[in-house]
Amino acid sequence: MARYSGPVCKLCRREGAKLFLKGAKCTSNKCPFEKKGYAPGQHGRSRRMKMSEYAIQLREKQKVKRMYGLLEKQFRLYFERADRTKGITGENLLQILETRLDNTVYRLGLAPSRNAARQLVRHRHFMVNGRLVDIPSFQVKASDIIRVREKSRQNALIHNSMKRIRDGKLVPWLELDKAQMQGTVLEIPNRQDIPVNVNENLIVELYSK
Ligand code: SF4
Repeated sequence: MARYSGPVCKLCRREGAKLFLKGAKCTSNKCPFEKKGYAPGQHGRSRRMKMSEYAIQLREKQKVKRMYGLLEKQFRLYFERADRTKGITGENLLQILETRLDNTVYRLGLAPSRNAARQLVRHRHFMVNGRLVDIPSFQVKASDIIRVREKSRQNALIHNSMKRIRDGKLVPWLELDKAQMQGTVLEIPNRQDIPVNVNENLIVELYSK
């Protein structure tokens, strides 16, 4: 699957929000967004024009897509799946994105960013319910157990990431056992359990045009 490989901090500046794409740097005073919160490019500072309704909806979609590191086609497919699922489409969409294995690994604190989590999953460092899974888009379910493989327990990226987090519930729907290097999916998250500052209804409006 193709991925965006350009400078990621520019994406935060473009979307006017911190997307947390760089791990520890995002919460340090080295985060460029803290100093240059305006859009990138020559006219970034002066770009203050009023946005159309369409532009606002488009920016919200781009924000979520970039936050979860997806390209347009895959994001669209997730939206279509969310739309077919019973319930509120916007919430279904966030639920699907949140329960991807790479995001779950990131939320458990086993990787510093979603990008790093995706790479670690691809490099076969995790088991789900005792079986090796190397597909970042794998959807976890309630009661699933995500565990660092025995031979990956010394992995520096995982270790350094775990140093920064505490045991227990990092988000209401996940529980981490640091000693065992494993996390449990307690439940599928509700909207209020998904800590992203987005208005998913704008995305539904955009795709419903
Ligand atoms: Fe965004 Fe993180 Fe870069 Fe800050 S450090 S601009 S939050 S990716």
